[in-house]
Amino acid sequence: MTKETRYGLTSLKRDFPNEEACLQFVFDSQHTRKCSCGGQYHLIKGRKQFQCSKCRFQIAPCSNTIFHKSATPLSLWFHAIWIFSNAKSGISALEMQRQLEVTYKCAWRILSLIRKSLKQSEEKLKGDVEIDSAYIGGVKSGGKNNEKLGQAIAAKAIVIAAVERNGQMRAEVVKVNSATITKDFIDKHIAKGETRLLTDGSRNYERAVFGMKRESVDHSKKEYVRGDVHINTIETFWSHVKRSITGTHKAISHQHLQSYLDAFVFHYNNRYNDKERFASLIGSLLHA
Ligand SMILES: [Zn+2]
Repeated sequence: MTKETRYGLTSLKRDFPNEEACLQFVFDSQHTRKCSCGGQYHLIKGRKQFQCSKCRFQIAPCSNTIFHKSATPLSLWFHAIWIFSNAKSGISALEMQRQLEVTYKCAWRILSLIRKSLKQSEEKLKGDVEIDSAYIGGVKSGGKNNEKLGQAIAAKAIVIAAVERNGQMRAEVVKVNSATITKDFIDKHIAKGETRLLTDGSRNYERAVFGMKRESVDHSKKEYVRGDVHINTIETFWSHVKRSITGTHKAISHQHLQSYLDAFVFHYNNRYNDKERFASLIGSLLHA
């Protein structure tokens, strides 16, 4: 386990004190300063272009990135990315608007572009992997005596997640909670031969994990932990996601839930090092 490291506002201002520093960073992430002619690239003062000292060739480092057509200064983008990166419980567009002193529309657009850049890795999980599903979102109550439970559940979205112990997470919004859907999720995200799957007693797994090593705890019999068999890591993730949605975002439409989920997974998978998480976020935006 890597030691946790902080990356606060002081660090951000030190590394990226102005627009030039941000431009240099974007250039250096994609190109070398040395031109093939033997010259050196320098930032042209007052512009977003770099030019070779010898052959005069010009490069616009933002041209293939998300920052290209944005009227928002790079330094403001970097500040927004830093806020997002450190906001482990998520951040609303209203909050971003207040912090950056921009319009709501601008804050919303920045947040939506950041979330869209956070596609989950296709690398398969292995080792001890906990898997579980949950109902997320929806504002309807189940009623005092659960008489409206059916409606309340229908208003929620179903999410399946899997997490390696001390490792990475994958999570997806799915249409129904069935054995077939669970099997598709497992085929896509889990390396079968190298995995011990840890689940609850849901019947879905019996068909879905055919041929795989699996151990389960039976929540219906109040069995939550048996030796090292439990799904507590994933349960902790669910409660974090649910609390964050209620506390920060109030409600999320089904249409946008996957991109919010991608953000929670991104924060989880980059949980130990604030500076690396920030760098990785900028990297994903540069290549989005
Ligand atoms: Zn040159």
